[in-house]
Amino acid sequence: MSEYEINSLDTRIWQEELDDFVPQKVFDAHVHIYRWAFDLDPSKATGPFANGIGAMFPEVTWEIADEVDAALMPDREIERLSFPFPFPNPCDFDGSNSYVAQETSKGAGKSRSLMLVNPGMNAAQVEAAARRHGHIGFKPYRWYADDPVDGRLTDFMPEHQIAVADKLGLAIMMHLSKRDAIADPANVEDMLRLSDKYPNAKWILAHCARSYSAWAIEASAAKLRGLPNVWYDTSTVCDSDALDALYTGVGVDRVMYGSDDMIGPMRGKYITFGRAWTALSPTNHSMSLAHCDPRMTFIRYEQLRAMKRGGRQIGLTAAHRQALFYDTARALVDSIPVPLPQ
Ligand SMILES: [Zn+2]
Repeated sequence: MSEYEINSLDTRIWQEELDDFVPQKVFDAHVHIYRWAFDLDPSKATGPFANGIGAMFPEVTWEIADEVDAALMPDREIERLSFPFPFPNPCDFDGSNSYVAQETSKGAGKSRSLMLVNPGMNAAQVEAAARRHGHIGFKPYRWYADDPVDGRLTDFMPEHQIAVADKLGLAIMMHLSKRDAIADPANVEDMLRLSDKYPNAKWILAHCARSYSAWAIEASAAKLRGLPNVWYDTSTVCDSDALDALYTGVGVDRVMYGSDDMIGPMRGKYITFGRAWTALSPTNHSMSLAHCDPRMTFIRYEQLRAMKRGGRQIGLTAAHRQALFYDTARALVDSIPVPLPQ
């Protein structure tokens, strides 16, 4: 039985709550295309990803991504911005980057890829690899910094790589670091400084700028609003308050749907409390649920519910939904010239 086999709970939520919300054409701005084999950690079988993507989605081809979308959002046309899974070092960066380019090329010319970078790569290396594979940007990750929790943005996305993105007009998919994420003044200061200094680089702040509940983006939205080269994706954020704070704070025209697949088709929900957030899954809790239907649906469906209900305050229109699910990402991607070999 495939992990994302649809059950009666999923069908009910899709039909009653989501089918009329998700438009016909969808551009998914946040998709991981990878092989588990690119994680070179010899002890990965007992590591944090083994029971998740390691067990459930060890090899994500373009066809598997299509299959998952067809199961979870039937009859939608899907285009993607895809990039490798950032396995902690040791990770096969070259293998990851050529694989994602090869798979994304199956997307009929409508989808694009980003390359996984680490701060040890010099400018010439990242430019050459982007040109070789036609990657339209970079996917850095915080655990390639010396301090993966409190490291500063430039510790894992060094300025020499941002300068390459600026020179070629490329995207940077940024999963922010620090316990307070976008509420941390250092992150805001870095985004203000770097988006101004490198105006041609196009930043996508993943997971609502890593604001899984409202407080983080509430603290910083007014400072970020109006930056012409900064966008946000909604991937795996399941709190409608967070979406409301994002839509109203930075403007719904800067926000794009992303699935974070293959996280989206896992069952559970990203939950928040205090100033914390984490993934709740069927196997990591001991709650007693005998009084109700105890099943969990897909993280993707919880996220879509939040995207829908978070739009009540702004009165999300059909035009907003079209922009959120397709037009904004399509226009952003179309504004980036595919780097060519020299
Ligand atoms: Zn992701």
